[in-house]
Amino acid sequence: MSFASLGLRTELIRAVTEKGYRIPTPIQRQAIPAILEGRDIMGGAQTGTGKTAGFTLPLLQRLMRPAGAVKRKRVIRALVLTPTRELAAQVSDNIGAYAKYLPLKSAVVFGGVSINPQIRKLRSGLDILVATPGRLLDHLRQNTADLSQVEILVLDEADRMLDMGFIRDIRRLLALLPKQKQTLLFSATFSSAIKQLADDLLNRPTLIEVAKRNTASAQVNQVIHPVDKKRKRELLSYLIGSNNWQQILIFTRTKHGANRLTEQLNKDGISAAAIHGNKSQGARTKALAGFKAGKVRALVATDIAARGLDIAQLPHVVNFELPNAAEDYIHRIGRTGRAGNEGQAMSLVCVDELKLLKDIERLIKRSLPKVVIKDFEPDLSIKPEPVNKGRGQQRSQKKPRHRNTQYQQRGA
Ligand code: AMP
Repeated sequence: MSFASLGLRTELIRAVTEKGYRIPTPIQRQAIPAILEGRDIMGGAQTGTGKTAGFTLPLLQRLMRPAGAVKRKRVIRALVLTPTRELAAQVSDNIGAYAKYLPLKSAVVFGGVSINPQIRKLRSGLDILVATPGRLLDHLRQNTADLSQVEILVLDEADRMLDMGFIRDIRRLLALLPKQKQTLLFSATFSSAIKQLADDLLNRPTLIEVAKRNTASAQVNQVIHPVDKKRKRELLSYLIGSNNWQQILIFTRTKHGANRLTEQLNKDGISAAAIHGNKSQGARTKALAGFKAGKVRALVATDIAARGLDIAQLPHVVNFELPNAAEDYIHRIGRTGRAGNEGQAMSLVCVDELKLLKDIERLIKRSLPKVVIKDFEPDLSIKPEPVNKGRGQQRSQKKPRHRNTQYQQRGA
């Protein structure tokens, strides 16, 4: 099975070949022909499955007018909505790469950066716009974007958009789009809210589901290391050092926890940077670039900040703390083992988190192997305490209270 046999034009095949793709992934095999036919799509796919190319390639092809068609002014004919700035930037980069040999123009708009360069790009005329909902609404309010000619709408990571509270923004945006259009909805999970949105939006959609719903990627080697809370940082530094890991993505529950752990790792001689919602866009981009370039060994992230991060062949993901929502575990470990590469996902679990671990194992329908690391055996006399939920961590700017002894290094 080749990209050519899916009916893609030569300019697109040339572009994907240059990216090094030889065979389409399962979601691409299913999505590309259906989208080319003009069908609506309900896609259940995690990141790492190749879903971005799965919708972008046929979208680009559909935007190409038949040869000889009258040339009109450029108007936005495809709109891709994503939950986070990082995902928006990545989708936009992909569109740029796949459209390399086509005369189509695209741009990306998201919040946290100056609006004026975006306005200039929008004025210059675009075929494709990638956007986060909030900033797009700002543009619409200022009349700097026109969505009245949109032919194809993509909602990427729709579940996360709902989790982040974007439903009202999305509904507002939908009201401004033409009724008649092709809609492609992608979501890693299918809550009743997603089903409701799909019912309202999609017209006899083709259902595409790769990796079974709510199952973690089979390519990822998962393990639990039981350890006391106050020794987690020490164990983490030990694992990184003794295994000589060079590129590790680490998850914490809170922004404060991410900052704190980053500082501690740096003190341990492991170059680390934090990426979370309180960091400026510039700082986030810089941290990610340093990580990709190998200058930063450990990237410490909160769940939302990490959504959509596309880092090729990320070998190790560490859950320094388990997520409050079991589904986030699947998103987190989806950062490794991408597109055919084996990955390793480790979770450092203290007694307080055993309930969260149970929820995860129930969701993925299997129990995860537990490996106690020598000299880090948990102290069985410690009683569980409620976990710090880090409530409002993703959106509120409130400084978290902290009484922190938990990461202090022992004997150092
Ligand atoms: P995505 O699920 O869209 O985030 O894609 C995950 C990763 O797989 C990205 O780094 C893509 O560049 C890569 N990728 C997508 N399609 C293919 C393919 N057919 N062959 C190899 N790699 C791919």
